[in-house]
Amino acid sequence: MPEMKKIFILCEKGLEVLMPTVKSAVDDMMSCFPQHKADYPVEVIGNWQSEGAVRQNSAGQIVYKPYESVDWYLMRARQKAMMEGRWPQRGQISIDQLCADLHSDPYRTQIPQWSVLITKQDLYGTLSNGQKLNFCLGVSHENEHSIISTARFVDRNGILDTEEFKTVVMHEFGHLIGVTREGRVHSNEQLGAHCTNEGCLMQQRLDGDYKELTRARLLRESRGQTPICGDCITEGNKFFNRQRMAYNITHGLGFNTGLDGNYGTTR
Ligand SMILES: [Zn+2]
Ligand SMILES: [Zn+2]
Repeated sequence: MPEMKKIFILCEKGLEVLMPTVKSAVDDMMSCFPQHKADYPVEVIGNWQSEGAVRQNSAGQIVYKPYESVDWYLMRARQKAMMEGRWPQRGQISIDQLCADLHSDPYRTQIPQWSVLITKQDLYGTLSNGQKLNFCLGVSHENEHSIISTARFVDRNGILDTEEFKTVVMHEFGHLIGVTREGRVHSNEQLGAHCTNEGCLMQQRLDGDYKELTRARLLRESRGQTPICGDCITEGNKFFNRQRMAYNITHGLGFNTGLDGNYGTTR
């Protein structure tokens, strides 16, 4: 099978140490889909920037080339937060800006990809009715990206609860691969569709407390069960099949591969 998409894992500077945790979260989710996993290689690119992406101008200011570094995305989200009174007052950056910029990233058309971006900054977002959320742990867009903040998982001594954080990354990545699609069985709508099956980490936690879901995940793991429930896996397989179909259509493969270019050339 050809490679379908790359999964890029990116982070704010200083979070490189967390990259193995994030990668294992993505790997664990992809392992629920053994028929598809190999088509989506995972690459950790960390605090990525292209050559010449960040430079100093003659006035000593830092100038970022658009889309060419993780720092550019974070700078834009901070600027938006300044306009909306969240930075520096509440130390939050705009997740809406991050989503919009990732969505319009020209690299996406050059290299088919999904991205998982991790930041230390606390995030806030805006609901479709214009109401601003006090905070958000992360947001995902199906078939595009997940953005997740470590801010709410760090205790007063600066120590991150890596297992709880891993659960959130898995949860967000589950949204990216469409496992809780709207209208699915055993799901409800609360800031996006969520699973209602007991023990599944795709349940909604509006209070941001993922401790219980983390305990459930570790218990399932110790029993050799998948981290998400059967309904989520069924829906995820549908998602991957749609990906395959879209790929075949854009590459002119169709569904019947009976004849190919080598036909009749062997004699
Ligand atoms: Zn969710
Ligand atoms: Zn589920």
